[in-house]
Amino acid sequence: MRIVRFGRGSWGVVEGEVVRVTRGPGGSFTRKRLPLAEVRLLPPTKPTKIVCVGRNYRRHAQEMGEEVPKEPGLFLKAPNALAAPGSILPYPSFTHSLHYEGELAVVVGKRMRRVSEDKALAYVLGYTCALDLTARDVQKTDLQWIRAKSADGFCPLGPWVETDVAPFDLRLRTFVNGEVRQDARTSAMIFSIPFLLAYVSSFMTLEPGDVLLTGTPEGVGELKPGDEVAVEIEGIGRLSVRVAPAS
Ligand code: MG
Repeated sequence: MRIVRFGRGSWGVVEGEVVRVTRGPGGSFTRKRLPLAEVRLLPPTKPTKIVCVGRNYRRHAQEMGEEVPKEPGLFLKAPNALAAPGSILPYPSFTHSLHYEGELAVVVGKRMRRVSEDKALAYVLGYTCALDLTARDVQKTDLQWIRAKSADGFCPLGPWVETDVAPFDLRLRTFVNGEVRQDARTSAMIFSIPFLLAYVSSFMTLEPGDVLLTGTPEGVGELKPGDEVAVEIEGIGRLSVRVAPAS
């Protein structure tokens, strides 16, 4: 099932090129159907927080000149950072180094508090594509990463939550203006999704709709005004946004 949010906050399920409108996320169907091409998609979940993992792919840690971590390195994005599929995002005035990071996102389905690794997947609603947009220059100079990682629009998410996919070995590619920049498999993660969910929920309650970004593979880089960036994950879909052209 592909769960979408669209318009002014309606929920639906995508079947082929049609959106069947539902009562709530994954809820019962109404009679209404709309052509997918005619709805304005929103981020497909309403999280209370977005928990992110840094350095979860060995080669990305290496390209950043960092050690392979022994424990997950976590940070947060707030819901203000969400951006809809197809958004046009202004180039932020406070940075000269806006980077893309294509990532697999996990969407929580049931409240998680101290859930063990072997039970963690039963609490997952599904998976979607994310861009962990990052102001790389201020990430190095600010005390914390609030501005570098959680500015408005720094977490494009979508196009939908796919509930019927196994996340462990999917091809993930990021494109800038149609050119491949990241091409990896989710099997290369250092910390697995069940491990990460158990780890986070050991100290922080995860609510339905909350999002876990699972880290980016190697190949991160700069975005310039006017660039189109897309992340495509096998079995899930393709999310693309654009950086507004320089005015
Ligand atoms: Mg990241």
